[in-house]
Amino acid sequence: MAKLSITDLHNLRGQRVFVRVDYNVPLDEAGNISDDKRIKATLPTIDHLVKSGAKIILAAHLGRPKGKRDPRQSLRPCAARLAELIGGTVNFADDCIGDKVDAMVAAMQPGQILLLENLRFYAEEEKNDAVFAAQLAKNADVYVNDAFGTAHRAHASTAGVPEILKKRGSQCAAGFLMEKELKYLGGALSNPPRPFLCILGGAKVSDKIAVIENLLTQADAILIGGAMAYTFLKSQGYGVGNSLVENDKLDLAKNLLAKAKGKKFLLPVDHVQATKPEAGATTRITDGPSLEDGWCGVDIGPKTIAAYNQEIVAAKTIVWNGPMGIFEIPEFSKGTFEVAKAVAGNKGATSIIGGGDSAKAVKKAGVDKQVTFVSTGGGASLEFLEGRELPGVAALSNK
Ligand code: AMP
Repeated sequence: MAKLSITDLHNLRGQRVFVRVDYNVPLDEAGNISDDKRIKATLPTIDHLVKSGAKIILAAHLGRPKGKRDPRQSLRPCAARLAELIGGTVNFADDCIGDKVDAMVAAMQPGQILLLENLRFYAEEEKNDAVFAAQLAKNADVYVNDAFGTAHRAHASTAGVPEILKKRGSQCAAGFLMEKELKYLGGALSNPPRPFLCILGGAKVSDKIAVIENLLTQADAILIGGAMAYTFLKSQGYGVGNSLVENDKLDLAKNLLAKAKGKKFLLPVDHVQATKPEAGATTRITDGPSLEDGWCGVDIGPKTIAAYNQEIVAAKTIVWNGPMGIFEIPEFSKGTFEVAKAVAGNKGATSIIGGGDSAKAVKKAGVDKQVTFVSTGGGASLEFLEGRELPGVAALSNK
């Protein structure tokens, strides 16, 4: 069901618009924001609302304060950075509910922006507590969710508040960033130009079972890399040496491979193996899919890179989630970076990078601007690829 967009909202002048944003930014030791891309990503939505004359109430979380007020996890620095970015004023409320916040909201003028303090200073946020949600909703006429990264959580600010507003007959819409996520991830799953290729890597099969199951029914080809590959290979009787393997998931891996029969489900045909999974270890390329005793797999090998490249250049839609090896260590990063470059180099395809480590990998490979879309939500994009409806999306008004 298509969801209401921020562009469907009219007559916003003077309306109090509660906007859930993702300002969970990294802070350095001194408490300074070390990467403000999440704040920058909200600028189109904020700019649109300022121009519409709305009263903009921004709500977000930072870190994991677990229901306790912690000044090191205050959103105050985000208010200052947002003010710099828009070249205007952003007021900050040192709480997210209560009399003081109510008074600050009541004093707002059209076009003004108020950022509320960290929602997770209250344990009620993550519990989706009804009373807490009602206190937040009290200061809102309209709801906008632009925080795709938390849309897979049914929290007060992502689910409780829009449910209350909808009951009141108010509109709840997706912001520009959320809309873009739904357009690209949703487009890949609903009607992708084919061949539709999925590349899955990372540490564990167990994290991606539901994604693999769902994509087996949708994708034309699936390429597997990362430590996840060793669990699949071991389930087929190949040697895995000291590689990271989930021994309790061997039956599951076997079943997934059985389900994939007749489909293009590619496992690595060679590997970079190392004496230990650390920088400076001795490495060598395996002859085939088996790893040698005493060695561990740390990256896909050159024959695998070539085979995966062939699939990548032929694809029309590509979704990638999870690195091909321990890419954080330069000697083990080649497979991941080669895949990143091949994906970015296929200009005829819509290429979607599913957040988290794959997003870091395309950035490190210097090709993040050349792919079609990099998702801002790791966990949320995975749940989306599982075919699940995210609570933060479900809670928005239908078109
Ligand atoms: P995930 O969060 O499941 O996407 O996993 C990402 C992590 O998987 C990264 O930190 C990688 O270093 C790790 N990883 C990828 N390949 C391997 C491997 N062959 N052995 C151990 N860890 C790996």
